[in-house]
Parts: sequence; C-alpha cells; structure tokens
Amino acid sequence: MKCRRCLRERECNFRVRTDEINLTVCAPCAVEARRLELPVEALSEKADSLLAMIAASRTLKNHPESR
Ligand SMILES: [Zn+2]
Repeated sequence: MKCRRCLRERECNFRVRTDEINLTVCAPCAVEARRLELPVEALSEKADSLLAMIAASRTLKNHPESR
C-alpha cells in the first residue's frame, strides 16, 4: 500500500485526520504528523503500540528542561 504522504510503498497502519485531511500513512509519516501535533489514529493493534512508543519518546525529547 502506498503511503498517501511520502508516496512510498510501505505498510500504512496509521491515519492522520483533521477537518481538512484524512490520509492513510506509514509509520515515519505518522511520527512526523505527531510532531506537527496532528491527530494520528492507529489502524491496527501493532500500530497502536507503536503510537504509544512514539508518544513516549516524544515526551522524552520534549522534556521541558531547556538549558
Ligand atoms: Zn509515509
């Protein structure tokens, strides 16, 4: 399945949905969407746990300790 964002042939287990867009995307694009604070939905159980991992690493990276 082609990712609707990067157009690569990949497993697309995520959906990015806002009022304007509704795209089925691959994991890297889901990460990017998350970074842009777009709502990302997981389309499978595997994707769901991946999304949880992404959310966790994002929290780590954005730790409010900016010195
Ligand atoms: Zn993609």
